[in-house]
Amino acid sequence: MPLLPPLVALEKGRWVKLICGASYQDLPAIRNLALVYSLAGVHCIDGAADLAVLSAIREGMAAARRWRERQGLPAQSDPWVMVSLNDGEDPHFRKAVFDPRRCPPDCPRPCEAVCPAHAIDHRGVIEHKCYGCGRCLPVCPLGLIGAEARRIKPAEVLPWLEAGLVDAVELHTQTGHEADFQRLWTQLQPGVAHLKLLSVSCPYHPEVLPYLQKIYPILDPLPLPLIWQTDGRPMSGDIGKGATQPAIRFAQGVLNAGLPGFIQLAGGVNAHTVPKLGELGLLNGAVPRINGLAYGSYARVLLQDLLPETEPLELYPDLLKTALERARQIAVISEQLSVSAHN
Ligand code: SF4
Ligand code: SF4
Repeated sequence: MPLLPPLVALEKGRWVKLICGASYQDLPAIRNLALVYSLAGVHCIDGAADLAVLSAIREGMAAARRWRERQGLPAQSDPWVMVSLNDGEDPHFRKAVFDPRRCPPDCPRPCEAVCPAHAIDHRGVIEHKCYGCGRCLPVCPLGLIGAEARRIKPAEVLPWLEAGLVDAVELHTQTGHEADFQRLWTQLQPGVAHLKLLSVSCPYHPEVLPYLQKIYPILDPLPLPLIWQTDGRPMSGDIGKGATQPAIRFAQGVLNAGLPGFIQLAGGVNAHTVPKLGELGLLNGAVPRINGLAYGSYARVLLQDLLPETEPLELYPDLLKTALERARQIAVISEQLSVSAHN
């Protein structure tokens, strides 16, 4: 993908974001994901609001620059780094938890089988690998698995904004959270001048469009570009074809509502998303249009069997090459998006 600067990519409807996960803290995996997807040409990498995660993303991006240099390739813009904050309880900001001592020895371990992040073993939940998808919660026959919520205070993030470690912030909200959203936005004010972009992420709800219309005036006048992230079925992109429909339907609703800002799909984005957008006539150069896509669990699962447990991926050039070929599937998808959108 010829890499456009992030804001230009948004304006042209070619924006692609990698979501590492608002709760995902597997640092070697995040570092290697940032390396591969930077090389593949994503415009933004979204990670947990955690200094170690930010460092891992920046390390992966630096490794990508060095790799390009060694290959004699021209330099290209770095992706923007985004962190996520929540205005209340939210499935993206939780970890599964259980006490493995309570598990019967003959349990067939459906929790382990269902986990897309390989975050469960005989020790219980491997905390840094869990990204809170919740799939293990209902499958335990004894109901042993619970979830621990995580809330990031904006005050923790402000110094990172001042230090230039973060380019963009994503505010996760939900229908009915208006007062909490207002509070979160107010708390973030001292850092807004350091940002290049704001994203507001919301899952679908029958009343979500009036809700987004209600919170927009809280942001207005906004001194920076805004993305509405339509989080159709959160953290479901790896599940398959059906998962992509809710994000598309939700995005259609936001398009029709005419809210100011860019529109980017998430929550179910995978290889089926662009073809489905095409079938629905949403790539025919219509204005307003979909401005981009965010790949989360689909992008991570795509590379899962290739990433070393702890080592830098570039130590294994063959693996890096294969990873890059797979990651470029996303770039190709984005190219289709742009071609269709401009014809
Ligand atoms: S299934 Fe989801 S919530 Fe459960 S441990 Fe795995 S990543 Fe965490
Ligand atoms: S399904 Fe429940 S009982 Fe079985 S291993 Fe998982 S947590 Fe333990």
